[in-house]
Amino acid sequence: MAEVPRLEVRDLVKHFPVRRGTFAKAREYVKAVNGVSLEIRDGETVAIVGESGCGKSTIARLILRLERPTSGSIRLDGEDLLAMEDTTSARRAVQLVSQNPWSALNRRKTIKHTLTQPLKVHDLVDTRAGRTVRAAQLLEEVGLSPDYLYRFPSGISGGELQRVTIARALAVSPGVLILDEPTASLDVSVKASIINLLIDLRDLENLTYLFITHEIDIAKHVSDRIAVMYLGRIVEQGPTEEIFENPQHPYTQSLLGSVPVPDPQLRAELKPISGEVPSAIDLPSGCTFHTRCPYVFDRCPEEIPELSMIDSRHLAACHLMEQGR
Ligand code: SF4
Repeated sequence: MAEVPRLEVRDLVKHFPVRRGTFAKAREYVKAVNGVSLEIRDGETVAIVGESGCGKSTIARLILRLERPTSGSIRLDGEDLLAMEDTTSARRAVQLVSQNPWSALNRRKTIKHTLTQPLKVHDLVDTRAGRTVRAAQLLEEVGLSPDYLYRFPSGISGGELQRVTIARALAVSPGVLILDEPTASLDVSVKASIINLLIDLRDLENLTYLFITHEIDIAKHVSDRIAVMYLGRIVEQGPTEEIFENPQHPYTQSLLGSVPVPDPQLRAELKPISGEVPSAIDLPSGCTFHTRCPYVFDRCPEEIPELSMIDSRHLAACHLMEQGR
């Protein structure tokens, strides 16, 4: 029997109405997510990469049930997440580490409060003393000493704060972590240490990650598979190594054109991306990348390309695939 994916989204769509006044009828929609399907197996890390505004953070919000999808389904261990009651166990199962630890933590509360609160809310540890001991353990798991329990967010660095938000997410023993640009607000020197920590924790605690980033080189270090998104659609997905060594979609090639690629022949072929991302209110017709694509031809503005198989695990949505390029 086929393994049930840890997390599975199917044909996910999210369109946000745009209203010109509080009671006005929506005449336009921001088409943030336009039919995304993705599976993540137990213990796997899948990275969603793409420029800002491509819909990747909206997918995170839909999985966390902070937004309702316009249509489509989300399953966790085979169960319909959208139909699950908002019980504490359902809320525990998927946790978020967001890009900005400063806004994720209450500046007026100690780190001890931040870490013991979820243990109390979810009834995980009965006594106050027990919660303090567990909070100290969580700090140690993320590489901070128990002394940090009595400090406030304003007194510690950005990298240390992000370690605290990771510890808070781990406090409720989730199966899945959604990492939404977790290193985007950090210095380059700190980024690497947070990435290494996340890799260690995943291996140690058998976590499943959905890693959202606009930095494809970071996705390379963390992920088993990459899904490349453009204007609300996945345009290419496959094993990380395959995406880096044999990118098929012109948008993926453009993203790789902005990072160092070891293969000199591939490097010479990659064309850096130009132009701005079009508005998600007024999506270009056909292949939405056609306004920026160096290979655009007659069929591209006419017809939306479907994701088609390059091999059993590698897919891309580009009419050039059918031309046998
Ligand atoms: Fe470019 Fe056409 Fe392929 Fe779209 S379908 S990526 S416009 S070649």
